[in-house]
Amino acid sequence: MPAEFPDFRLGSVLATSFTATLTERQGEAVERIPAPHRLVDWLAINGLAVDSCTTDQLDLARELRESIHAAATAAATQEPLPASVVQVINDRSIQGRAAAVLTPEGNRRWRLSSTSRVEDALSVIAADAISIISGERDGKLALCASPTCRAAFFDTSQSRSRKWCDMNTCGNRQKKARFIANQRKNAGSAE
Ligand SMILES: [Zn+2]
Repeated sequence: MPAEFPDFRLGSVLATSFTATLTERQGEAVERIPAPHRLVDWLAINGLAVDSCTTDQLDLARELRESIHAAATAAATQEPLPASVVQVINDRSIQGRAAAVLTPEGNRRWRLSSTSRVEDALSVIAADAISIISGERDGKLALCASPTCRAAFFDTSQSRSRKWCDMNTCGNRQKKARFIANQRKNAGSAE
């Protein structure tokens, strides 16, 4: 895999893993699907394999991504959902033709109408976003506490008190920053 493309931040929730293909939104943003073939890679990892993607389809995907981010942020802060982003999410959901199928092992798989239809894959992501934004699923939408991130994530912890979108990145960075601040404070008081 070429090293010039940023890696993916994968989580257990499809819709918020998708919005995490753009990270550090409030800082120096990192675009993790900068080219159509990176969207193809991302979809394959998430059980939505397609064999090709055009730049128009990538634009459609990014428009959906930003709409989910805006709607999830509104839901997390108990603001009304912007009508325009609701429209985009619904359009993507309606226009896809994906079917859930059960494997002999009892797992769910998505079957797309054709592997050139990125729209089918996007409809699965849109439907997943609808299920978390509508409150259908057990969990709570929240915003990452990192001021340069502020990603929307779906908190399924028992206490619903998760602070970071991702423990390995935002959570860890905060812990390190606190550690360094404490060290400085201790060094200062020793003088
Ligand atoms: Zn974060």
